[in-house]
Amino acid sequence: MLSSSQSQQVITCRAAVAWGKGEELVIEEVEVSPPQSQEIRIKVVSTSLCRSDISALDSQPIFPRIFGHEASGIVESVGSEVTEFKKGDHVLTLFTGECRTCSHCTSGKSNICQVLGLERKGLMHSDQGTRFSVKGKPIYHYCAVSSFSEFTVVHSGCAVKVNASAPLEKICLLSCGAAAGMGAVWNVANVLEGSKVVIFGLGTVGLSVAQAAKLRGASHIIGVDINSAKCDKAKAFGVTQFINPNECSEPVQQVIKRITDGGADYAFECIGDTGMVTTALQSCCDGWGLTVTLGVPKVKPEVSAHYALLLTGRTLKGCLFGGWKPKSDLPSLVDMYMKKEIQIDEFITHNLQFEDINEALNLMREGKCLRCVIHMPK
Ligand SMILES: [Zn+2]
Ligand SMILES: [Zn+2]
Repeated sequence: MLSSSQSQQVITCRAAVAWGKGEELVIEEVEVSPPQSQEIRIKVVSTSLCRSDISALDSQPIFPRIFGHEASGIVESVGSEVTEFKKGDHVLTLFTGECRTCSHCTSGKSNICQVLGLERKGLMHSDQGTRFSVKGKPIYHYCAVSSFSEFTVVHSGCAVKVNASAPLEKICLLSCGAAAGMGAVWNVANVLEGSKVVIFGLGTVGLSVAQAAKLRGASHIIGVDINSAKCDKAKAFGVTQFINPNECSEPVQQVIKRITDGGADYAFECIGDTGMVTTALQSCCDGWGLTVTLGVPKVKPEVSAHYALLLTGRTLKGCLFGGWKPKSDLPSLVDMYMKKEIQIDEFITHNLQFEDINEALNLMREGKCLRCVIHMPK
């Protein structure tokens, strides 16, 4: 137990540091600064690997850096002006924060906080500094979370207190992918009972979409993926028909139009392939067909589509984190999990110790996992 004065000291702990593009992570001794004003320092308990960590590792130029943005932990200490957290609180980290006072946070229309939204420079929101260093050399953050470390510092608006009886090694999934998929169905598309849904990409996000669509009573939940090995798991999450486009003799949008008698009511792009956004729009029905994008493209960020698709009434809608206002909404999602109203355990295909974090990256690169939960040392 640290006394309050000791807790405001630098902590030396282990973190998985990315030193260069696409390189293996290296477990290093890092110094973690005390939390500054409005910040909290968290002892990370569990962190799951999300595809975006790998995409950023492979494409962005900011190094050295500590990745990880889907995590749970326990508050170790709090900085000045922090009133809503205390040492010992159980929290989920938020890669997109919520300040609760900016015009977006108070609009009732948006979860894109103007103050604590997605951080892209690898720095803290408050002072554009870092809280990690190795031998005096600063280490950049990722999405203002950096959970591949035994301890991390986040803005108090980038964490949310949750039910302390919820298993941290499971609910870490709700801090990104699993929650994003469900939110896209409930908050962004607002899928109605009896509707026809098509999902492109059946990873954790796509399967979350399937689960949420099933809970809304969708009549058709068509899952599209080029890996037929995903078919059984997809059906367990609510997919009613599985299509592997590589096994079709005609374009997949035509197959979908036939099955749905004119096109789906809702299409969800969960791959991060802008070409597939076009296919998703083409798979929707005239009049009210809605395509929601969830995937983050690694290459070719521009979307192109024939204007006639829009002229005939289709909508293309983007979202971040499934439209959830993270601080306001996540506690109730955790409670739904505790009441067994939503399933997330089934996304966890691997449990690994922190030392084996590179194995998690390999499993995801090879498409052999849904979620790998990385357990930090106790
Ligand atoms: Zn993520
Ligand atoms: Zn805000």
